[in-house]
Amino acid sequence: MTTQQKIEQLRDELRQYNHNYYVLDSATISDYDFDIKLKELEKLEEANPQFFDVNSPTQRVGGGITKNFETLVHKNRMYSLDNSYSKEDLLDWEKRVQKVLGTDDVAFTCELKYDGASINLTYENGRFVKAVTRGDGFQGDNVTANIKTIRSIPLKPLGDFVSNFEMRGEIVLPLDGFQKMNEERIANGEEEYKNPRNTASGSLKLQDSAEVAKRPLDCLLYQVVTEERKYQTHFESLEHARKVGFKVPNTMALVSSIDAVFDFVNHWDLARHQLPYETDGVVIKVNNLQQQEELGYTAKAPRWAIAYKFKAEQVSTLLHEITYQVGRTGAITPVANLEPVQLAGTTVKRASLHNADQIEKLDIRVDDTVYVEKGGEIIPKIIAVDLSKRPLNSQPTIYATHCPECSTVLVRNPGDAKHYCPNEFGCAPQITGRIQHFISRKAMDIDGLGGETVDLLRKENLISNYADLYDLRVEQVIPLERMAEKSAKNMIAGIEKSKEIPFEKVLFALGIRFVGETVAKKLAKHFKSIDALFAADFETLIRVDEIGDRIAQSILDFSNNLNNLQLIDRLKSHGVQLELSAENLENQTEKLQGKTFVVSGVFHQLSRNELKKAIEDNGGKVSSSISKKTDHIVAGDHMGPSKLAKAEELGVSIISEQDFIALIS
Ligand code: AMP
Ligand code: ZN
Repeated sequence: MTTQQKIEQLRDELRQYNHNYYVLDSATISDYDFDIKLKELEKLEEANPQFFDVNSPTQRVGGGITKNFETLVHKNRMYSLDNSYSKEDLLDWEKRVQKVLGTDDVAFTCELKYDGASINLTYENGRFVKAVTRGDGFQGDNVTANIKTIRSIPLKPLGDFVSNFEMRGEIVLPLDGFQKMNEERIANGEEEYKNPRNTASGSLKLQDSAEVAKRPLDCLLYQVVTEERKYQTHFESLEHARKVGFKVPNTMALVSSIDAVFDFVNHWDLARHQLPYETDGVVIKVNNLQQQEELGYTAKAPRWAIAYKFKAEQVSTLLHEITYQVGRTGAITPVANLEPVQLAGTTVKRASLHNADQIEKLDIRVDDTVYVEKGGEIIPKIIAVDLSKRPLNSQPTIYATHCPECSTVLVRNPGDAKHYCPNEFGCAPQITGRIQHFISRKAMDIDGLGGETVDLLRKENLISNYADLYDLRVEQVIPLERMAEKSAKNMIAGIEKSKEIPFEKVLFALGIRFVGETVAKKLAKHFKSIDALFAADFETLIRVDEIGDRIAQSILDFSNNLNNLQLIDRLKSHGVQLELSAENLENQTEKLQGKTFVVSGVFHQLSRNELKKAIEDNGGKVSSSISKKTDHIVAGDHMGPSKLAKAEELGVSIISEQDFIALIS
């Protein structure tokens, strides 16, 4: 077997394993063996770059950063759907359809209306080439790099299929994955995501595709668009798509009457609560593609399809008590404690009340009977009060004035929706929350230490801030509940190892308000050390690209606090990275200061990401679209023709990979 054949064979094998696991839900290989094969492929590909393939299973881990998503025009418009709310609506629709077609011989498909973000996947010559969001229907955002990380989407169909086509589908976040993400956020002291739909669509626009790769996204397909006249019916095209690896839910049904459509609707109105993802209705489509064509489109939707929306479920129940939760940053969230009630398949005991304004707006009071609805959000919300059941002695709710945890007087800054507890260093949930944030994956990423253990360590008075972590000894930890010698050792080793975490992450870990991951990166790059950052005054801070008044002030507040300075000193003495490493500094120059680059095409010596990193490391800026502000385009092979035309029109200099390397060396 030639090397190329070996590579192809491994790729096909891995595609099949991915399909079994992510689409069919039945693994046929252990994770361990899968990793070994993937590593083997990676090695072969690295040693034989001439066989590089953007659609190889090795290309799914992400890593590319997209600053601005490119806008692309859809080849075929992505329409919206007309809605119906009753059986009468559906019968009317059937009549219109039959009239246009001049026959009552019309079959329908029933599909669930998956609740996520629409996506259009384009395949050319049997290969995945791009993924674009629906946008306004005419044009959307190019989110290819992010979509590629979703393992259930085949980058190459697993068998004979049409060769040039678009697959339309919905990017969803299954409920259990969503819950896990939220548990992690709670443990990190971060605000919970509201609902799977928004989180799914937000994920598509994350700048770091490696982050997207970590999210348990899935893609459910519902339409094949192709000019190849291979299929007579919609149903048949989807069945075939499923056979070659696309995740087409088999909840889909083929029926021949609106009565049968209604049976489908009634069945799923209940059964949907058992599905692993959310659906908000049913989509009914004329099955015959010839008939679809005859029916055509209105200005906004196909005449051959209609959506039927399930009603949001509501119940009424008693509100026993309003309590207040304190987050890592001190933000207060009021919570309604309810008489437990069944709603949409789960027992509801609590509902978020958001903030003081919300309570006032709905005039929600203790002992009220309230209407609870489970709309698009996982956490149910109170939508109204049943005033007819309000007790005579009822009193308007007076919002908490003091922190429920530390009794400090709450503050509310002008423009803020939420109240805050200002007792940063004395309020238990804030102290714990800050430590939990410090150890979290995107921060110090401490192996062997989780949010619950932080709770325990705090309870046992072993730590009261993040610097204390570095003084912990194995013997102190072993006696803790559910700890054993091995896990205690792992934990201490994890803490020790975190001393290698680079400065930018440490800066994020410190939990300075408004200094998120991206800002931390910017600041680390600019100031290079915590000492330089803390020596900067307001003017210096706001001169840094993308640092505004709010962030600058927050940094000053942090660095003017003696408590914080002591903590930083202790971290320093423990050897935590509080400046950029020598290796990191070595590659950083100002050679490209003030210059903006656009990178386009395929390169040989550097990967696209390495190229972009090199630009930034040398002080330049990377932009995704060409404009008058662009100084150079670094052009590789196969640079897009439209980009080339634009560059020529604006007279922007086009340089090769070699030219670029010369520029920085
Ligand atoms: P709307 O956004 O309410 O106009 O509904 C149209 C959207 O429903 C489409 O853009 C799709 O993203 C989504 N959708 C979800 N499931 C389906 C399905 N089975 N067939 C067609 N569209 C669907
Ligand atoms: Zn407090």
